[in-house]
Amino acid sequence: MALEVDLLAKNDELAAANRRWLAERGIVALNLMSSPGSGKTTLLERTVRELGLPCAVLEGDQETVVDAERIRAAGARAVQINTGAGCHLDADMVARGVATLAPEPGSLLFVENVGNLVCPALFDLGEAARVVIMSVTEGADKPLKYPHMFRTADLVLLSKVDLLPYVDFDVAAWVDGARRARPGVEVLEVCATRGDGMADWYAWLRARAEAKAV
Ligand code: MG
Ligand code: ZN
Repeated sequence: MALEVDLLAKNDELAAANRRWLAERGIVALNLMSSPGSGKTTLLERTVRELGLPCAVLEGDQETVVDAERIRAAGARAVQINTGAGCHLDADMVARGVATLAPEPGSLLFVENVGNLVCPALFDLGEAARVVIMSVTEGADKPLKYPHMFRTADLVLLSKVDLLPYVDFDVAAWVDGARRARPGVEVLEVCATRGDGMADWYAWLRARAEAKAV
């Protein structure tokens, strides 16, 4: 337990340094967290193509550079962080990733965390906001089973809503569960392949980008 506290305290210091570095450059960092396969990278590909704001992406996965290549093909700067056996990104990995990525001042920096609904929530990366993504194939009970992930979310996205006719997913129960973990949290339903809800997602991103100027 003491070791865990020390580790998290050290991480919080590094995250604070990241936050200062990003703020000095007017870069808004968003920590995207979800289980594997929720559609984070597909959402980011479309976002990079359509948003019309300068974007850069840090991609976290245990292995492969596939996601960073997908983001670069969509037109944004991207750096892949491979965690090996690790199951989350921490502030030190993000500091080193950002040093290589060199995001433009004034840009949006998306940090796609390692797919995992548990421990990424414990590690502050220096982000301005946290976005939790969950797909309709995962089951509406997940916010109740993994409340820590939802408890610190600034926005929750329900993805792959085009599949709703084919799965047994109670959207109202899911929203209720997410708001039990995080009262009043904003929720958007999206489909990055068909385009549902993407305009609302872009509006949320633009509002975050403008808020940094204050
Ligand atoms: Mg991905
Ligand atoms: Zn972990």
